[in-house]
Amino acid sequence: MRLVDLHCDTMDLLMGNDKKLYENNLCVDIKKLKKANSLAQIFALFVDTKDIKNPYDYCISMYERFLGELNKNSNDISLATNYNEIINNNKISALLSIEEGAVLEGDIKNLEKFYDLGVRFLTLTWNYENEIGYPNCFEEFKDKGLEKFGFEVIEKMNDLGMIIDVSHLSDGGFYDVYNNSKKPFIATHSNSRTVTNHSRNLTDDMIRCLGNSGGVTGINFCNYFLNDRDDSNSTLEDIIKHIKHIVNVGGIEVLSIGTDFDGILSTVEIKDISEMDKLVSSLKKNDFKESEIEKIFSKNALRVIKEVLK
Ligand SMILES: [Zn+2]
Repeated sequence: MRLVDLHCDTMDLLMGNDKKLYENNLCVDIKKLKKANSLAQIFALFVDTKDIKNPYDYCISMYERFLGELNKNSNDISLATNYNEIINNNKISALLSIEEGAVLEGDIKNLEKFYDLGVRFLTLTWNYENEIGYPNCFEEFKDKGLEKFGFEVIEKMNDLGMIIDVSHLSDGGFYDVYNNSKKPFIATHSNSRTVTNHSRNLTDDMIRCLGNSGGVTGINFCNYFLNDRDDSNSTLEDIIKHIKHIVNVGGIEVLSIGTDFDGILSTVEIKDISEMDKLVSSLKKNDFKESEIEKIFSKNALRVIKEVLK
């Protein structure tokens, strides 16, 4: 089963040390991606603006480190920026996202600069308020919409052919994206709020809106978004529960994978990306057809990539 994973934070954990992308003790590396039969991995350039005072510059340095790792492994993996590059690639395709719109530092020209470097996804906010909008992790921001710059970013991303990511964005911001984006948009790593009542998850209405837009949500393996227990464990049963609900509400076309590997501290029953076949088996046991599993694992994400990226 080919895999497109919409979100991992591996690059964040490679910064400031000499860990390698080819092989490391993290949840994602090239060896594990090969075992996972990975078609494409979206790598997040995540910047925590609490610690980083020059988010644009820091993001560029992370980008450079990333390119260095790709260059060292050019037989196995290469940067892809659209659908054709992914399907014509005989290696694993790496796509780039930025997780935290504050790296634009309020200047739309910086969005174009990152586009020119090959970045194709932007998670509009992380867990802080920024020039674009507000995060969904604080109740007081729930109904806050996008800022003026946020609307500008949406329009520019539509024009350039970039995928808007609303994971982490306030509910108000979600609906501003829904009502203003001319292209499908996605939640790269968010689950169902009906199944697990966490503000990082999507309500049933949001799942339907994503479906209407032609977008997807990537199922996230973090325990906080999968269950209410205190044991920090993410089980296959939890994941299946969310998958079933999201498919019931939004249809099979609305679901993808967004593991959040290397961005979460949970003990996951699928312990790293090389073990994704556990999810395939579990879906089969739960009566998902091969063609449905293909949609969840790659085809739905590829549909959005084909439609939005140029
Ligand atoms: Zn995240």
